[in-house]
Amino acid sequence: MLPFARITIIGLGLIGSSLARAIRAEMPTVRVTGHDADPAVRDTARRIDLCDDVTDTAGASVTDADLVILCVPVRAMGAAATEIADDLPADAIVSDVGSCKADVLAQLSTALPGRTIIPAHPVAGTENSGPEAGFATLFKGRWCIVTPPDDADPFAVQRLVELWRRVGADVETMDPAHHDMVLAVTSHLPHLIAYTIVGTASDLESVTQSEVIKYSAGGFRDFTRIAASDPTMWRDVFLANKDAVLEMLQRFSEDLSALQRAIRWNDGDALFNLFTRTRAIRRSIIEQGQDDAKPDFGRSH
Ligand code: NAP
Repeated sequence: MLPFARITIIGLGLIGSSLARAIRAEMPTVRVTGHDADPAVRDTARRIDLCDDVTDTAGASVTDADLVILCVPVRAMGAAATEIADDLPADAIVSDVGSCKADVLAQLSTALPGRTIIPAHPVAGTENSGPEAGFATLFKGRWCIVTPPDDADPFAVQRLVELWRRVGADVETMDPAHHDMVLAVTSHLPHLIAYTIVGTASDLESVTQSEVIKYSAGGFRDFTRIAASDPTMWRDVFLANKDAVLEMLQRFSEDLSALQRAIRWNDGDALFNLFTRTRAIRRSIIEQGQDDAKPDFGRSH
């Protein structure tokens, strides 16, 4: 049996539009209603027939929903939830896809007291944004981390887990604070490092902009893909997951200082041992199907 019959998606960007496409592809009898704050996004969603219905107001999109998924930037979650509060059916489940979980759970609990709230985070994405960037297979073979509050109804959690499984995700449940620590090191810190490196290179005065672009294949190019990620989304992630990011950044700074020392004192063994360990981590990621082993990330030349 399908876990839900009428799903509303609020925020029709990369993740919201991918979810709409995936639900319609995998569960065609489910009615999908969409809403986005941006009128141009709503127009695009209608033109590309993204949902069964696209409403002009958030309230109108949820009146008969049995599941509402908020797919807006992390710091807009509370405002999006407040907009639907008066029209939300009593038995509807509210979820989200935000990249930080403790902060979002707090926002949703404040905006929707007494409602069934089960946050989740599909660990899948690209550096592109907007309704036309989405695709139905985005979640296939990727993890979705569901972070229920302590007093969550197990049946509601089970229904949400089933939804994510049906769109192809592998699902794990986790405490929201633990999620934020794990993602700080696997996702948020790498983005911060990429933003820093690309910013530093573009600020250098002794190396010209055109040289940075011309010789970008030497590792820099792969950072530029991450550093092209959506500025609104990532501003919100760092502010909403401040504590975990700062803790991981402290650890990273200490490790960077150790590397600096190894280079200064010609400690080749320390460098070699670290690089051997990191190579093994890359192999494990490939073995677990989270990337493929093609050279140069499968680029054609
Ligand atoms: P996106 O492509 O920028 O789409 C977000 C959409 O939400 C925009 O059209 C935005 O309109 C709209 N919006 C903002 N505030 C709203 C509100 N109060 N009510 C209704 N619509 C509103 O962003 P995305 O990449 O899909 O990210 C959405 C969420 O998914 C974020 O919380 C992010 O942390 C999470 N996530 C992203 C990725 C990724 O790789 N991109 C992966 C996993 C999870 P405006 O542009 O006019 O503000």
